[in-house]
Amino acid sequence: MPISKIVIVGGGTAGWMAAAALSKIKEGEGARPDRPLDITLVESEAIGTVGVGEATIPPFVDFNSLLGVDEAEVMAAVGGTFKLGIQFSNWGQVGQSYLHPFGQYGYEVDGVAFHQIWQMMREHGDKRPIQVFSPETMAAYFNRFAKSEMLPQRGDLPSINYAYHLDAGRYAKFLRDFAETRGVVRKEGKVADVALDGESGFVCSVKLEDGTSIEGDLFVDCSGFRGLLIEQALETGYEDWTHWLPCDRAVALPSNRPGPPLPYTKATAHSAGWQWQVPLQHRNGNGHVYCSKYMEADEALDILLANIEGEPAADPNHLRFVTGRRKKFWNRNVVALGLSAGFMEPLESTSIHLINTGINKLMALLSLDGVDQAQEDAFNRLTAKEYVRIRDFLILHYKATSRTDSDFWNYCRTMDIPDTLEEKIALFRANGQIFREEDELFTATSWVAVMMGQGIEPGGTNAMAYSLGRDVLKTEIDGIEQSIRYLVNAMPPHEQFVEKYCPAT
Ligand SMILES: Cc1cc2nc3c(=O)[nH]c(=O)nc-3n(C[C@H](O)[C@H](O)[C@H](O)COP(=O)(O)OP(=O)(O)OC[C@H]3O[C@@H](n4cnc5c(N)ncnc54)[C@H](O)[C@@H]3O)c2cc1C
Repeated sequence: MPISKIVIVGGGTAGWMAAAALSKIKEGEGARPDRPLDITLVESEAIGTVGVGEATIPPFVDFNSLLGVDEAEVMAAVGGTFKLGIQFSNWGQVGQSYLHPFGQYGYEVDGVAFHQIWQMMREHGDKRPIQVFSPETMAAYFNRFAKSEMLPQRGDLPSINYAYHLDAGRYAKFLRDFAETRGVVRKEGKVADVALDGESGFVCSVKLEDGTSIEGDLFVDCSGFRGLLIEQALETGYEDWTHWLPCDRAVALPSNRPGPPLPYTKATAHSAGWQWQVPLQHRNGNGHVYCSKYMEADEALDILLANIEGEPAADPNHLRFVTGRRKKFWNRNVVALGLSAGFMEPLESTSIHLINTGINKLMALLSLDGVDQAQEDAFNRLTAKEYVRIRDFLILHYKATSRTDSDFWNYCRTMDIPDTLEEKIALFRANGQIFREEDELFTATSWVAVMMGQGIEPGGTNAMAYSLGRDVLKTEIDGIEQSIRYLVNAMPPHEQFVEKYCPAT
């Protein structure tokens, strides 16, 4: 059946990102006058949105390009700041801290990964920490930021990688304005019923509490954790990953920001979970993610209140979730995006990223001629792979701990892990090798940063590193370190950059 009506259920970050992206098809220059496309988004103010989700990762920067909007304009509208990575404290051991930077350590030389070169130089007595070879780490430590094109060119170094911290409420509003201007119709109301076609089992309409029926050919389920269409109507099923990612609660609480905004997110582990700090121009976002098996809500809130910087700026928002993923993300004529598709907890800010890649895949597969099993299968296969790779990287943070100070950390340290992750750790312990599986999101630098940051050391050096002359390598890595110093010195303080480039409107 041809697609002429797309219905998006839900108006959180997922719903409005989908609406904004799909509105490009509707209003694009090549839009077919003989095939008008209606896009309707239904949301309920009474239900509201999850209200969190403010840290992103670098691929998200391209979403602005997809929409064709100016970065500085978006950042001003959302009170955004820049993010160069995540600082993890108390994960390997209490009192220890490391930064997982975006970008990479140094660069590959003759096909040999930089961390292998660094490891070989270390064997030869070079004492420099690997962090001095990451421009993002050094800029973060010195609280500086600039985009590469605004800096003196150092041809030997890749561009500075960054992402955004953004106010979720303001971002949804920005996208709503964008989508509505391009013809997306918003309907306020609570979906009370979902009608399925008796023969195909496809969703044919959603019915609002006031009796309005909204028909569609393709439905995008962005209804959040409840999965109104994908689960409640189609009973797709959920793969529960709680045994590997045991946190299942969060309490969020914004606060005013006493100091300048940091160009990185903070993730600080506590006795049964961890706390985030996301700096925005007008406030800090904070929250405590914890495991209800080992901690009560009151204690989680007390810990959060005792550890936030600045004064609380709202009432605490308590949230529940089950880590895992929907068994299918595309089922019949329903595509789930955002929390209705799954949730793997916010540790590496991957949720908005998965919305983004879900939209990219949907746009790539979408045909106005109708829905085909091949589209569904491709979407599900590719998305499942993405989830598994991200899942393994998240589990690593919990597993690679030496903490023995609480039942929660004792559980994490000793839990079974998926074979895929077991193999990755074993290989690194054997000779420091990291294989990036196909188009996996996290790079070798990410894996190395977390493994070494939490005490997993490379057991040896890849033989190929020795094929490179030591003196040549020393000159090479000295050059990298100097270029990074030069670049970071040329950057203004992060706060100054934000004030000049994208002051909040
Ligand atoms: C504690 C926590 C921290 C997070 N931190 C991050 C982070 O730092 N980075 C990141 O990338 N992601 C993060 N996330 C995930 C991120 O918040 C979500 O991916 C993002 O907000 C998208 O949510 P959503 O739009 O899917 O759902 P929601 O925001 O819950 O929106 C659901 C929408 O559906 C509507 N709806 C529901 N039922 C009905 C109904 N019956 N009728 C009509 N409308 C209905 C609601 O009104 C709402 O508009 C975090 C999540 C949690 C829980």
